[in-house]
Amino acid sequence: MSTESRVSPVVPDELLRHTAERVGICVRPVIRRIIDNETGELVATVPLPCGSTRERACRPCATKARRLRMDQCRAGWHRTDDPADLDDDPADQTDDSDSDPADPDDSDGSDTSAPVHRRSTRRLPQFPPLPVVPMEHRTVGRELASPNGKVYRPSMFVTLTLPSYGPVHKDGTPKDPAAYDYRRAALDAIHFAKLIDRFWQNLRRCAGYKVQYFAAVEPQRRLTLHTHAAVRGVVTRDVLRQVVAATYHQVWWPQHDEPVYLDRLPTWDERAEAYVDPDDGALLPSWEQATDKTYEPDAEPAHLLWFGEQIDSQWFIPGSTRTDRRIGYLCKYLTKSIAEVYDPDEMSPRQRRHLRRLHAEVRWLPCSPECPNWLRYAITPKDAEPGMQPGHCPRPAHALENLGHGGQRVLTSRDWSGKTLTEHKADRAAIVRVALAEAGMEPPATNRWAADQTDATGAPRYRWEPAGIDPGSDLETYRVILRRQLAERRRWQHEYETAKASLAAARPPNDTRSATAPEPALSGT
Ligand SMILES: [Zn+2]
Ligand SMILES: [Zn+2]
Repeated sequence: MSTESRVSPVVPDELLRHTAERVGICVRPVIRRIIDNETGELVATVPLPCGSTRERACRPCATKARRLRMDQCRAGWHRTDDPADLDDDPADQTDDSDSDPADPDDSDGSDTSAPVHRRSTRRLPQFPPLPVVPMEHRTVGRELASPNGKVYRPSMFVTLTLPSYGPVHKDGTPKDPAAYDYRRAALDAIHFAKLIDRFWQNLRRCAGYKVQYFAAVEPQRRLTLHTHAAVRGVVTRDVLRQVVAATYHQVWWPQHDEPVYLDRLPTWDERAEAYVDPDDGALLPSWEQATDKTYEPDAEPAHLLWFGEQIDSQWFIPGSTRTDRRIGYLCKYLTKSIAEVYDPDEMSPRQRRHLRRLHAEVRWLPCSPECPNWLRYAITPKDAEPGMQPGHCPRPAHALENLGHGGQRVLTSRDWSGKTLTEHKADRAAIVRVALAEAGMEPPATNRWAADQTDATGAPRYRWEPAGIDPGSDLETYRVILRRQLAERRRWQHEYETAKASLAAARPPNDTRSATAPEPALSGT
Protein backbone atom coordinates (compact mmCIF):
# COMPACT_ATOMS: atom_id res chain seq x y z
CA MET A 1 0.00 0.00 0.00
CA SER A 2 1.09 3.55 -0.50
CA THR A 3 1.23 4.25 3.23
CA GLU A 4 3.38 1.17 3.75
CA SER A 5 5.90 2.14 1.13
CA ARG A 6 6.70 5.54 2.57
CA VAL A 7 7.00 4.60 6.22
CA SER A 8 10.14 4.95 8.24
CA PRO A 9 11.86 1.94 9.68
CA VAL A 10 10.56 0.64 12.98
CA VAL A 11 11.71 2.70 15.95
CA PRO A 12 15.08 1.21 16.87
CA ASP A 13 14.83 2.13 20.52
CA GLU A 14 13.37 -1.00 22.20
CA LEU A 15 12.16 0.68 25.34
CA LEU A 16 10.51 3.53 23.51
CA ARG A 17 8.86 1.12 21.13
CA HIS A 18 7.46 -1.03 23.92
CA THR A 19 6.08 2.02 25.69
CA ALA A 20 4.50 3.23 22.45
CA GLU A 21 2.95 -0.19 21.86
CA ARG A 22 1.56 -0.30 25.38
CA VAL A 23 0.04 3.15 25.14
CA GLY A 24 -1.19 2.46 21.62
CA ILE A 25 0.66 4.94 19.47
CA CYS A 26 2.26 4.18 16.14
CA VAL A 27 5.76 2.69 16.43
CA ARG A 28 6.97 3.80 13.03
CA PRO A 29 5.41 7.20 12.37
CA VAL A 30 6.28 9.51 9.52
CA ILE A 31 7.31 12.92 10.77
CA ARG A 32 5.75 15.97 9.11
CA ARG A 33 6.43 19.68 9.54
CA ILE A 34 3.43 21.97 9.49
CA ILE A 35 4.09 25.43 8.10
CA ASP A 36 1.74 28.38 8.51
CA ASN A 37 1.43 29.83 5.02
CA GLU A 38 0.51 33.27 6.40
CA THR A 39 3.57 33.73 8.55
CA GLY A 40 5.89 31.18 6.96
CA GLU A 41 6.54 29.85 10.44
CA LEU A 42 6.93 26.29 11.52
CA VAL A 43 3.96 25.72 13.83
CA ALA A 44 4.47 22.09 14.69
CA THR A 45 6.36 18.91 13.98
CA VAL A 46 3.93 16.03 14.17
CA PRO A 47 4.20 12.29 13.80
CA LEU A 48 1.68 10.71 11.43
CA PRO A 49 0.73 7.12 12.16
CA CYS A 50 1.91 4.65 9.53
CA GLY A 51 -1.60 3.20 9.23
CA SER A 52 -0.42 -0.36 8.68
CA THR A 53 -2.96 -3.14 9.10
CA ARG A 54 -0.20 -5.69 9.83
CA GLU A 55 0.68 -6.47 13.40
CA ARG A 56 4.24 -7.36 12.46
CA ALA A 57 4.73 -3.88 11.02
CA CYS A 58 2.96 -1.84 13.70
CA ARG A 59 0.85 -3.39 16.40
CA PRO A 60 -0.90 -0.17 17.55
CA CYS A 61 -1.96 0.84 14.02
CA ALA A 62 -3.04 -2.74 13.19
CA THR A 63 -5.08 -2.98 16.39
CA LYS A 64 -6.76 0.30 15.62
CA ALA A 65 -7.60 -0.84 12.10
CA ARG A 66 -8.99 -4.13 13.41
CA ARG A 67 -11.22 -2.40 15.98
CA LEU A 68 -12.56 -0.17 13.27
CA ARG A 69 -13.45 -3.22 11.17
CA MET A 70 -15.19 -4.75 14.20
CA ASP A 71 -17.28 -1.58 14.56
CA GLN A 72 -18.16 -1.79 10.89
CA CYS A 73 -19.05 -5.48 11.14
CA ARG A 74 -21.21 -4.98 14.23
CA ALA A 75 -23.02 -1.98 12.72
CA GLY A 76 -24.38 -3.96 9.79
CA TRP A 77 -24.82 -7.54 10.89
CA HIS A 78 -28.17 -7.30 12.65
CA ARG A 79 -29.37 -4.01 11.28
CA THR A 80 -33.15 -3.90 11.33
CA ASP A 81 -33.76 -1.01 8.95
CA ASP A 82 -32.71 -0.55 5.35
CA PRO A 83 -30.07 2.08 4.63
CA ALA A 84 -31.68 5.18 3.14
CA ASP A 85 -30.61 4.85 -0.49
CA LEU A 86 -31.64 1.41 -1.58
CA ASP A 87 -30.37 0.74 -5.06
CA ASP A 88 -33.08 0.63 -7.71
CA ASP A 89 -31.78 -2.41 -9.50
CA PRO A 90 -32.72 -5.35 -7.30
CA ALA A 91 -30.75 -8.06 -9.08
CA ASP A 92 -27.34 -6.58 -9.25
CA GLN A 93 -25.42 -4.40 -6.94
CA THR A 94 -21.89 -3.19 -7.09
CA ASP A 95 -19.99 -3.44 -3.90
CA ASP A 96 -16.96 -1.61 -2.68
CA SER A 97 -14.83 -4.63 -3.43
CA ASP A 98 -13.01 -4.33 -6.73
CA SER A 99 -15.78 -6.27 -8.36
CA ASP A 100 -16.77 -6.12 -11.96
CA PRO A 101 -20.35 -5.05 -12.42
CA ALA A 102 -20.46 -6.47 -15.96
CA ASP A 103 -22.70 -9.22 -17.21
CA PRO A 104 -22.87 -12.22 -14.84
CA ASP A 105 -20.63 -14.47 -16.90
CA ASP A 106 -18.49 -11.84 -18.47
CA SER A 107 -16.02 -10.02 -16.29
CA ASP A 108 -12.80 -9.77 -18.20
CA GLY A 109 -12.09 -6.13 -17.43
CA SER A 110 -11.52 -5.41 -21.10
CA ASP A 111 -11.64 -1.92 -22.50
CA THR A 112 -15.21 -0.69 -22.82
CA SER A 113 -14.28 1.51 -25.77
CA ALA A 114 -13.45 -1.61 -27.80
CA PRO A 115 -16.01 -2.89 -30.31
CA VAL A 116 -19.02 -4.30 -28.52
CA HIS A 117 -18.63 -8.00 -27.97
CA ARG A 118 -21.26 -10.25 -26.51
CA ARG A 119 -20.51 -13.40 -24.66
CA SER A 120 -23.07 -16.12 -24.19
CA THR A 121 -24.74 -15.96 -20.80
CA ARG A 122 -25.70 -19.63 -21.02
CA ARG A 123 -24.70 -21.42 -17.84
CA LEU A 124 -22.11 -24.15 -18.02
CA PRO A 125 -23.83 -27.56 -18.03
CA GLN A 126 -21.58 -29.11 -15.38
CA PHE A 127 -22.99 -26.73 -12.74
CA PRO A 128 -26.52 -27.15 -11.34
CA PRO A 129 -29.03 -24.40 -12.10
CA LEU A 130 -29.73 -21.61 -9.66
CA PRO A 131 -33.11 -21.60 -7.98
CA VAL A 132 -34.61 -18.23 -8.75
CA VAL A 133 -37.13 -16.63 -6.42
CA PRO A 134 -38.95 -13.28 -6.57
CA MET A 135 -36.87 -10.41 -5.23
CA GLU A 136 -38.09 -8.35 -2.30
CA HIS A 137 -36.85 -4.82 -1.95
CA ARG A 138 -35.16 -5.18 1.41
CA THR A 139 -31.68 -5.71 2.79
CA VAL A 140 -32.62 -6.83 6.29
CA GLY A 141 -33.39 -10.32 7.52
CA ARG A 142 -36.86 -11.50 8.44
CA GLU A 143 -38.29 -11.78 11.91
CA LEU A 144 -38.85 -15.36 12.92
CA ALA A 145 -41.00 -16.64 15.78
CA SER A 146 -39.79 -19.45 18.00
CA PRO A 147 -42.28 -22.11 19.27
CA ASN A 148 -42.59 -20.28 22.58
CA GLY A 149 -43.69 -17.16 20.76
CA LYS A 150 -40.47 -15.20 21.12
CA VAL A 151 -39.65 -13.16 18.06
CA TYR A 152 -36.10 -12.80 16.90
CA ARG A 153 -34.23 -11.73 13.80
CA PRO A 154 -31.20 -13.95 13.18
CA SER A 155 -28.29 -13.38 10.84
CA MET A 156 -25.71 -15.82 9.47
CA PHE A 157 -22.03 -16.54 9.61
CA VAL A 158 -20.86 -18.35 6.48
CA THR A 159 -17.53 -19.92 5.53
CA LEU A 160 -16.73 -20.68 1.89
CA THR A 161 -13.65 -22.62 0.83
CA LEU A 162 -11.88 -23.50 -2.40
CA PRO A 163 -11.61 -27.09 -3.68
CA SER A 164 -8.75 -29.51 -3.07
CA TYR A 165 -5.53 -29.30 -5.08
CA GLY A 166 -4.24 -32.59 -3.68
CA PRO A 167 -4.22 -34.39 -0.31
CA VAL A 168 -2.47 -32.48 2.50
CA HIS A 169 -0.94 -33.28 5.87
CA LYS A 170 -2.23 -31.79 9.12
CA ASP A 171 0.34 -28.97 8.83
CA GLY A 172 -1.21 -27.96 5.51
CA THR A 173 1.59 -29.21 3.27
CA PRO A 174 0.90 -31.56 0.34
CA LYS A 175 1.37 -35.31 0.81
CA ASP A 176 2.71 -35.48 -2.74
CA PRO A 177 4.18 -32.08 -3.68
CA ALA A 178 4.90 -33.23 -7.23
CA ALA A 179 1.25 -34.06 -7.83
CA TYR A 180 -0.19 -31.05 -5.97
CA ASP A 181 -1.88 -28.66 -8.43
CA TYR A 182 0.01 -25.47 -7.61
CA ARG A 183 -0.98 -23.78 -10.83
CA ARG A 184 -4.70 -24.17 -10.15
CA ALA A 185 -4.19 -23.16 -6.52
CA ALA A 186 -2.40 -19.99 -7.66
CA LEU A 187 -4.97 -19.09 -10.33
CA ASP A 188 -7.82 -19.69 -7.90
CA ALA A 189 -6.16 -17.35 -5.40
CA ILE A 190 -5.59 -14.64 -8.02
CA HIS A 191 -9.25 -14.74 -9.10
CA PHE A 192 -10.82 -15.63 -5.75
CA ALA A 193 -12.37 -12.22 -5.12
CA LYS A 194 -14.31 -12.46 -8.39
CA LEU A 195 -15.65 -15.87 -7.43
CA ILE A 196 -16.97 -14.65 -4.10
CA ASP A 197 -18.41 -11.58 -5.79
CA ARG A 198 -20.29 -13.92 -8.12
CA PHE A 199 -21.45 -15.92 -5.09
CA TRP A 200 -23.09 -12.83 -3.54
CA GLN A 201 -24.83 -12.00 -6.80
CA ASN A 202 -26.15 -15.55 -7.02
CA LEU A 203 -27.16 -15.68 -3.37
CA ARG A 204 -29.19 -12.51 -3.82
CA ARG A 205 -31.11 -14.10 -6.67
CA CYS A 206 -31.87 -17.17 -4.58
CA ALA A 207 -32.47 -15.62 -1.19
CA GLY A 208 -35.19 -13.28 -2.40
CA TYR A 209 -33.73 -10.19 -0.80
CA LYS A 210 -30.66 -8.04 -1.24
CA VAL A 211 -28.34 -9.98 1.00
CA GLN A 212 -25.68 -7.81 2.65
CA TYR A 213 -22.34 -9.09 3.85
CA PHE A 214 -19.09 -8.29 5.60
CA ALA A 215 -16.55 -10.83 4.39
CA ALA A 216 -12.94 -11.40 5.39
CA VAL A 217 -10.55 -13.19 3.04
CA GLU A 218 -8.37 -15.52 5.11
CA PRO A 219 -5.81 -18.26 4.51
CA GLN A 220 -6.27 -21.90 5.40
CA ARG A 221 -3.37 -24.01 6.60
CA ARG A 222 -2.90 -25.43 3.12
CA LEU A 223 -2.28 -21.80 2.02
CA THR A 224 -5.46 -21.52 0.02
CA LEU A 225 -7.97 -18.77 0.54
CA HIS A 226 -11.31 -19.03 2.16
CA THR A 227 -13.76 -16.44 3.27
CA HIS A 228 -15.62 -15.92 6.51
CA ALA A 229 -18.64 -13.72 6.18
CA ALA A 230 -21.17 -12.13 8.43
CA VAL A 231 -24.38 -12.07 6.39
CA ARG A 232 -27.43 -10.01 7.31
CA GLY A 233 -30.50 -12.22 7.53
CA VAL A 234 -30.58 -15.97 7.01
CA VAL A 235 -31.20 -18.49 4.24
CA THR A 236 -31.58 -22.21 4.75
CA ARG A 237 -28.59 -24.54 4.51
CA ASP A 238 -30.17 -26.10 1.44
CA VAL A 239 -30.34 -22.82 -0.44
CA LEU A 240 -26.79 -22.02 0.61
CA ARG A 241 -25.53 -25.39 -0.58
CA GLN A 242 -27.34 -24.99 -3.90
CA VAL A 243 -25.88 -21.55 -4.47
CA VAL A 244 -22.36 -22.69 -3.61
CA ALA A 245 -22.66 -25.65 -5.98
CA ALA A 246 -24.04 -23.47 -8.77
CA THR A 247 -21.46 -20.70 -8.49
CA TYR A 248 -18.45 -20.49 -10.78
CA HIS A 249 -16.38 -17.82 -12.42
CA GLN A 250 -14.90 -17.89 -15.90
CA VAL A 251 -11.78 -15.84 -16.51
CA TRP A 252 -12.06 -14.51 -20.05
CA TRP A 253 -8.44 -13.60 -20.46
CA PRO A 254 -6.18 -14.81 -23.25
CA GLN A 255 -4.94 -18.35 -22.71
CA HIS A 256 -1.81 -18.53 -20.58
CA ASP A 257 -1.00 -22.18 -20.08
CA GLU A 258 2.44 -22.46 -21.61
CA PRO A 259 5.01 -19.68 -21.40
CA VAL A 260 6.57 -18.82 -24.76
CA TYR A 261 9.40 -16.62 -23.51
CA LEU A 262 11.42 -17.82 -20.55
CA ASP A 263 15.07 -16.79 -20.85
CA ARG A 264 14.91 -14.58 -23.90
CA LEU A 265 12.30 -11.90 -23.45
CA PRO A 266 10.38 -9.71 -25.86
CA THR A 267 11.92 -6.27 -26.36
CA TRP A 268 10.31 -2.85 -26.58
CA ASP A 269 10.10 -1.36 -30.05
CA GLU A 270 10.25 2.39 -29.75
CA ARG A 271 8.61 3.14 -33.11
CA ALA A 272 5.79 0.63 -32.80
CA GLU A 273 5.39 1.42 -29.07
CA ALA A 274 4.90 -2.26 -28.51
CA TYR A 275 6.82 -5.41 -27.64
CA VAL A 276 8.45 -7.53 -30.33
CA ASP A 277 10.13 -10.90 -30.57
CA PRO A 278 13.81 -10.45 -29.58
CA ASP A 279 15.06 -12.43 -32.60
CA ASP A 280 12.91 -11.62 -35.61
CA GLY A 281 11.39 -8.35 -34.36
CA ALA A 282 7.85 -9.56 -35.07
CA LEU A 283 5.15 -7.65 -33.19
CA LEU A 284 3.52 -9.49 -30.33
CA PRO A 285 -0.28 -9.44 -30.40
CA SER A 286 -1.67 -6.48 -28.47
CA TRP A 287 -3.87 -7.05 -25.43
CA GLU A 288 -6.91 -6.04 -27.50
CA GLN A 289 -6.07 -8.48 -30.28
CA ALA A 290 -5.52 -11.29 -27.81
CA THR A 291 -8.79 -10.65 -25.97
CA ASP A 292 -10.71 -10.43 -29.27
CA LYS A 293 -9.90 -14.11 -29.69
CA THR A 294 -11.74 -14.93 -26.47
CA TYR A 295 -14.97 -13.86 -28.19
CA GLU A 296 -14.67 -16.43 -30.96
CA PRO A 297 -17.47 -19.02 -30.86
CA ASP A 298 -15.29 -21.92 -29.74
CA ALA A 299 -13.15 -19.92 -27.28
CA GLU A 300 -12.57 -21.36 -23.83
CA PRO A 301 -12.06 -19.30 -20.70
CA ALA A 302 -8.44 -19.08 -19.57
CA HIS A 303 -9.49 -20.32 -16.16
CA LEU A 304 -12.61 -21.63 -14.49
CA LEU A 305 -12.97 -21.62 -10.73
CA TRP A 306 -15.56 -22.86 -8.27
CA PHE A 307 -15.95 -23.52 -4.56
CA GLY A 308 -15.07 -26.60 -2.58
CA GLU A 309 -17.82 -28.66 -1.00
CA GLN A 310 -16.98 -27.60 2.53
CA ILE A 311 -19.52 -24.97 3.59
CA ASP A 312 -20.27 -23.85 7.07
CA SER A 313 -23.13 -21.70 8.24
CA GLN A 314 -24.41 -20.76 11.67
CA TRP A 315 -27.11 -18.43 12.88
CA PHE A 316 -26.55 -15.60 15.31
CA ILE A 317 -28.92 -13.32 17.16
CA PRO A 318 -28.06 -9.70 18.01
CA GLY A 319 -26.47 -8.69 21.26
CA SER A 320 -25.37 -12.07 22.59
CA THR A 321 -21.83 -12.73 23.79
CA ARG A 322 -21.61 -15.54 21.22
CA THR A 323 -22.34 -12.97 18.50
CA ASP A 324 -19.78 -10.56 19.88
CA ARG A 325 -17.12 -13.25 20.07
CA ARG A 326 -17.80 -14.15 16.47
CA ILE A 327 -17.21 -10.57 15.37
CA GLY A 328 -13.89 -10.68 17.20
CA TYR A 329 -13.01 -13.94 15.47
CA LEU A 330 -14.02 -12.62 12.06
CA CYS A 331 -11.64 -9.66 12.38
CA LYS A 332 -8.91 -11.33 14.40
CA TYR A 333 -6.61 -12.41 11.59
CA LEU A 334 -6.91 -9.23 9.55
CA THR A 335 -3.74 -8.05 11.30
CA LYS A 336 -1.79 -10.90 9.73
CA SER A 337 -0.87 -11.40 6.10
CA ILE A 338 -2.09 -14.43 4.12
CA ALA A 339 1.37 -16.04 4.26
CA GLU A 340 1.55 -15.57 8.03
CA VAL A 341 -0.75 -18.53 8.54
CA TYR A 342 2.68 -20.10 8.93
CA ASP A 343 4.53 -18.24 11.66
CA PRO A 344 7.58 -16.81 9.84
CA ASP A 345 9.79 -17.64 12.82
CA GLU A 346 8.50 -21.11 13.48
CA MET A 347 7.43 -22.71 10.22
CA SER A 348 8.85 -26.14 9.42
CA PRO A 349 11.13 -26.69 6.40
CA ARG A 350 8.25 -28.55 4.77
CA GLN A 351 5.92 -25.58 5.23
CA ARG A 352 8.58 -23.23 3.94
CA ARG A 353 8.93 -25.30 0.79
CA HIS A 354 5.15 -25.31 0.28
CA LEU A 355 4.99 -21.53 0.75
CA ARG A 356 7.89 -20.87 -1.64
CA ARG A 357 6.52 -23.24 -4.25
CA LEU A 358 3.12 -21.54 -4.27
CA HIS A 359 4.74 -18.13 -4.30
CA ALA A 360 6.84 -19.14 -7.33
CA GLU A 361 3.56 -19.89 -9.10
CA VAL A 362 1.77 -16.62 -8.26
CA ARG A 363 4.87 -14.61 -9.07
CA TRP A 364 4.85 -15.58 -12.75
CA LEU A 365 1.14 -15.72 -13.55
CA PRO A 366 -0.63 -12.62 -14.85
CA CYS A 367 -2.56 -10.77 -12.15
CA SER A 368 -4.35 -8.25 -14.38
CA PRO A 369 -4.55 -7.17 -18.03
CA GLU A 370 -1.71 -4.72 -17.34
CA CYS A 371 0.60 -7.32 -15.80
CA PRO A 372 4.13 -7.60 -17.32
CA ASN A 373 3.85 -11.38 -16.98
CA TRP A 374 1.79 -11.41 -20.21
CA LEU A 375 5.09 -10.97 -22.05
CA ARG A 376 5.98 -14.55 -21.09
CA TYR A 377 2.91 -15.68 -23.00
CA ALA A 378 3.79 -13.61 -26.07
CA ILE A 379 1.10 -11.01 -25.46
CA THR A 380 1.69 -7.29 -25.06
CA PRO A 381 0.13 -6.26 -21.74
CA LYS A 382 -2.66 -3.71 -21.78
CA ASP A 383 -1.29 -0.12 -21.61
CA ALA A 384 2.20 -1.46 -22.21
CA GLU A 385 5.24 0.71 -21.62
CA PRO A 386 8.98 0.22 -21.98
CA GLY A 387 10.89 -1.63 -19.30
CA MET A 388 8.23 -4.16 -18.34
CA GLN A 389 9.74 -7.27 -16.80
CA PRO A 390 7.95 -10.54 -16.20
CA GLY A 391 8.30 -11.71 -12.62
CA HIS A 392 8.65 -8.13 -11.41
CA CYS A 393 5.07 -6.88 -11.46
CA PRO A 394 4.67 -4.45 -8.55
CA ARG A 395 1.01 -5.33 -7.94
CA PRO A 396 0.26 -6.89 -4.55
CA ALA A 397 -1.13 -10.22 -5.83
CA HIS A 398 2.41 -11.45 -6.54
CA ALA A 399 3.85 -10.62 -3.13
CA LEU A 400 4.85 -13.50 -0.90
CA GLU A 401 2.69 -12.17 1.91
CA ASN A 402 -0.44 -12.11 -0.27
CA LEU A 403 -0.05 -15.38 -2.22
CA GLY A 404 -2.22 -14.29 -5.12
CA HIS A 405 -4.82 -12.21 -3.31
CA GLY A 406 -4.06 -8.66 -4.40
CA GLY A 407 -7.23 -6.94 -3.23
CA GLN A 408 -8.88 -5.91 0.00
CA ARG A 409 -8.98 -8.38 2.86
CA VAL A 410 -12.43 -7.17 3.86
CA LEU A 411 -15.12 -7.12 1.21
CA THR A 412 -18.35 -5.48 2.27
CA SER A 413 -21.55 -4.84 0.42
CA ARG A 414 -22.58 -1.25 -0.11
CA ASP A 415 -25.64 -1.34 2.09
CA TRP A 416 -23.96 -3.14 4.98
CA SER A 417 -23.77 -0.45 7.63
CA GLY A 418 -24.85 2.53 5.53
CA LYS A 419 -21.49 4.11 6.31
CA THR A 420 -18.02 4.17 4.84
CA LEU A 421 -15.01 3.09 6.83
CA THR A 422 -14.00 6.76 7.14
CA GLU A 423 -17.38 7.56 8.64
CA HIS A 424 -16.98 4.74 11.15
CA LYS A 425 -13.59 6.19 12.02
CA ALA A 426 -15.12 9.63 12.56
CA ASP A 427 -17.74 8.02 14.81
CA ARG A 428 -15.07 6.64 17.10
CA ALA A 429 -13.40 10.02 17.40
CA ALA A 430 -16.76 11.75 17.92
CA ILE A 431 -17.66 9.56 20.90
CA VAL A 432 -14.47 10.64 22.60
CA ARG A 433 -15.04 14.32 21.79
CA VAL A 434 -18.60 14.18 23.11
CA ALA A 435 -17.49 12.49 26.33
CA LEU A 436 -14.86 15.17 26.91
CA ALA A 437 -17.17 18.04 26.00
CA GLU A 438 -19.97 16.76 28.21
CA ALA A 439 -17.55 16.61 31.10
CA GLY A 440 -16.54 20.20 30.37
CA MET A 441 -13.10 19.36 29.05
CA GLU A 442 -11.34 20.68 26.02
CA PRO A 443 -10.97 18.05 23.29
CA PRO A 444 -7.53 18.01 21.67
CA ALA A 445 -7.33 20.23 18.64
CA THR A 446 -6.89 17.40 16.20
CA ASN A 447 -7.95 19.48 13.25
CA ARG A 448 -6.22 22.67 14.23
CA TRP A 449 -3.80 22.46 11.34
CA ALA A 450 -5.92 20.41 8.99
CA ALA A 451 -5.53 20.88 5.25
CA ASP A 452 -9.05 22.29 4.94
CA GLN A 453 -8.30 25.26 7.22
CA THR A 454 -8.16 28.30 5.00
CA ASP A 455 -6.87 31.83 5.28
CA ALA A 456 -8.82 35.04 4.50
CA THR A 457 -8.51 34.49 0.74
CA GLY A 458 -9.71 30.90 0.92
CA ALA A 459 -6.27 29.41 0.26
CA PRO A 460 -5.06 26.59 2.49
CA ARG A 461 -3.68 28.03 5.70
CA TYR A 462 -1.20 25.29 6.51
CA ARG A 463 1.03 23.07 4.51
CA TRP A 464 2.36 19.70 5.59
CA GLU A 465 5.88 18.88 4.52
CA PRO A 466 8.11 15.86 4.90
CA ALA A 467 10.50 16.61 7.74
CA GLY A 468 13.28 14.32 6.62
CA ILE A 469 13.54 13.01 10.16
CA ASP A 470 13.75 9.28 10.59
CA PRO A 471 15.69 6.99 12.86
CA GLY A 472 18.32 6.69 10.15
CA SER A 473 19.01 10.40 9.80
CA ASP A 474 18.29 11.89 13.19
CA LEU A 475 17.55 9.38 15.91
CA GLU A 476 17.64 11.93 18.71
CA THR A 477 15.00 14.24 17.19
CA TYR A 478 12.90 11.23 16.36
CA ARG A 479 13.09 10.09 19.99
CA VAL A 480 12.17 13.53 21.28
CA ILE A 481 9.10 13.70 19.04
CA LEU A 482 7.97 10.23 20.07
CA ARG A 483 8.48 10.95 23.77
CA ARG A 484 6.49 14.14 23.50
CA GLN A 485 3.72 12.26 21.75
CA LEU A 486 3.73 9.59 24.44
CA ALA A 487 3.36 12.20 27.13
CA GLU A 488 0.50 13.90 25.27
CA ARG A 489 -1.17 10.60 24.70
CA ARG A 490 -1.00 9.66 28.39
CA ARG A 491 -2.43 13.02 29.44
CA TRP A 492 -5.16 12.69 26.88
CA GLN A 493 -6.05 9.15 27.97
CA HIS A 494 -6.15 10.30 31.55
CA GLU A 495 -8.52 13.15 30.69
CA TYR A 496 -10.72 10.80 28.75
CA GLU A 497 -10.89 8.27 31.60
CA THR A 498 -11.74 11.08 34.00
CA ALA A 499 -14.45 12.33 31.67
CA LYS A 500 -15.92 8.85 31.30
CA ALA A 501 -15.89 8.32 35.06
CA SER A 502 -17.55 11.64 35.86
CA LEU A 503 -20.17 11.06 33.17
CA ALA A 504 -20.90 7.56 34.42
CA ALA A 505 -21.41 8.94 37.89
CA ALA A 506 -23.78 11.64 36.64
CA ARG A 507 -25.80 9.35 34.38
CA PRO A 508 -28.89 7.26 35.12
CA PRO A 509 -27.89 3.62 35.61
CA ASN A 510 -29.52 2.29 32.41
CA ASP A 511 -27.52 4.55 30.12
CA THR A 512 -24.76 2.38 28.70
CA ARG A 513 -23.03 4.88 26.43
CA SER A 514 -19.75 4.85 28.29
CA ALA A 515 -19.59 1.06 28.13
CA THR A 516 -19.40 1.10 24.36
CA ALA A 517 -17.01 4.00 24.00
CA PRO A 518 -13.89 3.08 22.06
CA GLU A 519 -10.31 3.76 22.94
CA PRO A 520 -9.47 7.44 22.44
CA ALA A 521 -8.55 8.22 18.87
CA LEU A 522 -4.91 9.03 18.34
CA SER A 523 -4.28 12.72 18.32
CA GLY A 524 -3.54 13.95 14.82
CA THR A 525 -5.43 11.20 13.00
ZN1 LIG B 1 1.84 2.57 12.83
ZN1 LIG C 1 0.96 -8.61 -12.09
